[in-house]
Amino acid sequence: MLCIGFVLAFVFGLLAQRLRFSPIVGYLIAGVLVGPNTPGFIGDATLAPQLAEIGVILLMFGVGLHFSLRDLMSVRRIAVPGAIVQMFVATAMGWFLGTRLGWSHAESLIFGLSLSVASTVVLLRALESARLLDSERGRIAIGWLIVEDLAMVLALVLVPALAPNAEGARDGGIGLALLITVLKVGGFVALMLIVGRRVLPWLLERVAGTGSRELFTLCVLACAMGVAFGAAELFGVSFALGAFFAGMLLNESPFGHKAAEDSLPLRDAFAVLFFVSVGMLFDPWILIEQPLEVIETLAIILVGKSVAAWAVVRLLGKDNRIALTIAASLAQIGEFSFILVGLGASLGLVSEQTRDLVLAGAILSILLNPPLFALMARRTRVADTPVAPVAKGHVLVVGYGRVGGKLAVVLSRAGIPFVVIDTDDARVEAARAAGYKAIHGNAADEAVLAEANPSVASLAVLTIPDALEAGHVAQRLKQGAVSIPVLARAHSDEAVQHLLRRGADAALLAEHALAHSLSEMIAAMPEYRSGPLPSVARAP
Ligand code: AMP
Repeated sequence: MLCIGFVLAFVFGLLAQRLRFSPIVGYLIAGVLVGPNTPGFIGDATLAPQLAEIGVILLMFGVGLHFSLRDLMSVRRIAVPGAIVQMFVATAMGWFLGTRLGWSHAESLIFGLSLSVASTVVLLRALESARLLDSERGRIAIGWLIVEDLAMVLALVLVPALAPNAEGARDGGIGLALLITVLKVGGFVALMLIVGRRVLPWLLERVAGTGSRELFTLCVLACAMGVAFGAAELFGVSFALGAFFAGMLLNESPFGHKAAEDSLPLRDAFAVLFFVSVGMLFDPWILIEQPLEVIETLAIILVGKSVAAWAVVRLLGKDNRIALTIAASLAQIGEFSFILVGLGASLGLVSEQTRDLVLAGAILSILLNPPLFALMARRTRVADTPVAPVAKGHVLVVGYGRVGGKLAVVLSRAGIPFVVIDTDDARVEAARAAGYKAIHGNAADEAVLAEANPSVASLAVLTIPDALEAGHVAQRLKQGAVSIPVLARAHSDEAVQHLLRRGADAALLAEHALAHSLSEMIAAMPEYRSGPLPSVARAP
């Protein structure tokens, strides 16, 4: 199952990428192919969702690693009312559709609820690829998701009480069940904040002290999985929420950053399995049998939810950029919806058809979300303060961080006109505050690069650390009608070779330059001045 899942996901993911779709489309198709509804190999339908759960755990753990308690509290004013109103609106719309189709109230309610909650995996993928994870908009979206997640924990407790022969209903104990759940969740959060907050970072530091990389990675994984599992088993909190807390607490440790890096490849691998397992559940026939209902479901997810979210954010006084980001990032449904309708189906409250409808809505909204999000990202990017027309013969500085920032000071002192491009909102604002021309966006994106007018520039300097992205930019610059000289930053010999192959005229190995500066500093010291040091060989 794992082998076929990974291989097919890779092949179709690559194909989707080539055809300019999101690779997610490819993973989903791979899932449909190994699912029971298409001929050929049929994957293990009980194993797949479990692997997907691990994906969700690792993803939420990763989110926690980037998120501090302060961040979470700083967005509560907007995330809490926003998520509640949006969930209410979406549930009401789903309920309305359900009763119109003649379903029972319980079924309509579960249907509505399942449309009201967005998928963590899809949201994080979207934020990550638009590089919004660390922005204010990204933090609000994540806070919003966590509120939805908490609401789902309650919903999962309440749904069984809707069943005609439920225990809770018999002794009139819905209120009691709810109270117990709230107490359990509260107990979990308190335990994490009081005990976990001290123990987890302490443990991580101790293990880092052993010097074993393997043990460190294992410690990170054990914390993520252990806390997630404990939260679910002992407190009835969702896996995702437990993992989020584990990550958030490790974040406070000085090794949090390393923990995030170590768990990244695993996170990616399991996120892929999540999409494959979603694809496996899907029966494509529903698209032909009930096209109208599918479209209505999709409209609730894509239009109804977005409009509600957009309106709430605007009403709470945030600007249009934030409102559009939130609306686009939540216009999809995923894992929680499956869990909820699955529970409904096992209680006999939800028919097979309704479950398929939710699945169709999920698959289609996951397919349509990346282009929707990209459209939003483009709109909100253009909504930035426009850059004044760029002078001719300017220098193009890609990346305004430690390297690009210093370079900008030098260029501006020398009176050389230049433009910077950076993906980070805050960096771009800092550059503009310093009085520089700055463009917001990924330089590897054709439209962003075009804004900097590279065809009339005199030089481009790529100061971004990622050689693959820099190689992309170099190639774009060299493909233009007029090719301008390109200088690039690199961190390994392989990166230097890659950049040169992609057309850079020079690629400077950062560590080499550092050694060079250090040796010059030593040569300038009085005690070494007598015998001149041989100079460090310069990078090609
Ligand atoms: P530093 O490593 O401190 O020089 O920072 C690198 C800078 O490059 C950061 O400000 C990043 O936001 C920025 N950056 C990284 N990748 C890209 C890219 N593809 N396009 C534009 N800016 C980028």
